[in-house]
Amino acid sequence: MVNGSAVGRASPAPPRGSSAATPPKRLAILGATGSIGRSCAKVIGAAPGRFAVASVAGGRDGAALARSALELGAKFAAVADPAGYGDLKSALAGSGVEVAAGSQAVREAARRDADLVVSAIVGAAGLEPTFDAVAAGRTVALANKETLVCAGAAVMQTAGRAGALLLPMDSEHNALFQALGARDPATIEMMTITASGGPFRQWSAERIARATREEALAHPNWVMGPKVTIDSAGLMNKGLELIEAHFLFGVPPEKLDVVVHPQSIVHGLIAFADGSLLAGLASPDMRTPIAHCLAYPDRIASGVRAPDLAALSRLTFERADLVRFPALGLAIDALRTGRGAPTALNAANEIAVAAFLDRRIGFGDIACLVARTISSMDAAGELIAPTDVAQALAIHHIAVNRAGRLLA
Ligand code: MG
Repeated sequence: MVNGSAVGRASPAPPRGSSAATPPKRLAILGATGSIGRSCAKVIGAAPGRFAVASVAGGRDGAALARSALELGAKFAAVADPAGYGDLKSALAGSGVEVAAGSQAVREAARRDADLVVSAIVGAAGLEPTFDAVAAGRTVALANKETLVCAGAAVMQTAGRAGALLLPMDSEHNALFQALGARDPATIEMMTITASGGPFRQWSAERIARATREEALAHPNWVMGPKVTIDSAGLMNKGLELIEAHFLFGVPPEKLDVVVHPQSIVHGLIAFADGSLLAGLASPDMRTPIAHCLAYPDRIASGVRAPDLAALSRLTFERADLVRFPALGLAIDALRTGRGAPTALNAANEIAVAAFLDRRIGFGDIACLVARTISSMDAAGELIAPTDVAQALAIHHIAVNRAGRLLA
């Protein structure tokens, strides 16, 4: 971790008034057609004149990306999968929106002149475009947690060098960022993120191992994309978020903790040496952290009200169970091991979750495949510390291949 991390330490931009004379903040939205991207569109649509969208990028659905581009008034639309290009091009014919396809086009979307880049592409596919935006010194709203899990040290060092400000859009990290404010991260005694516990919170280990795709996709509190929903059901998502917090805030592994909080109202807590505990609370709706990041350092309406504590009446907390949720234990181990272990964990998990969603393996097999991939790479001396994004991607691909072979 770098000292003087870009997170929460950079001097805030001059206040942006809402007068007609203030030019709109220019946005690049990577992952415009996903769950976060669509919530961004809602927040942007509710704040007319406040934002102008320079570029949008999406994964493979050209028609959906074209709709996003038109809705947001984007100047440039890039679809990662060339198979989506035909739909994108025909839907935007005559619109004046520039279109392109392929991973280089997505990187081009990330480098377009924008005041804020929203990084919301799911998985390691988001790494290079996010890194481009960071290296260009942009302010980056980070919803893609894989960027930090896979190449955290390199990304934070580059952010420090380029003067890029990282705004965490993940609800837990956004709550921590707000609770931390301008305080020195070195004064933190313990940083805690909450987990809802997901749909299997009260299930036995045996029943969790046999859970179906439908059961794992039925999250009680949050509406999210399929990858993060599966990660949430096994608490791998919380493990990835601990790793993300480690790099983002520069907090060592022994000062990071998870607590299960089924109501999802408290998202992050910071304890200090004097016994003070600061918490970030919000309703479980991504529009709140999204609006916070988009308007930062201002505040705009997100369409979500702050929680009514008297109406909620009870907020409860319990310890996370690493026996029933072994994926969380694997992530904590990877965080403590350091080097290439978080990169390998993330890559193996992407393969395992995709295989589970394809009904090729059971829910209990996800953590097994991740564990076997990491131990096999460790035995082969392949868990070296990535010093740049190219190395991180190389470790990622080794882990993807290793997990694929173990799967077969
Ligand atoms: Mg989260």
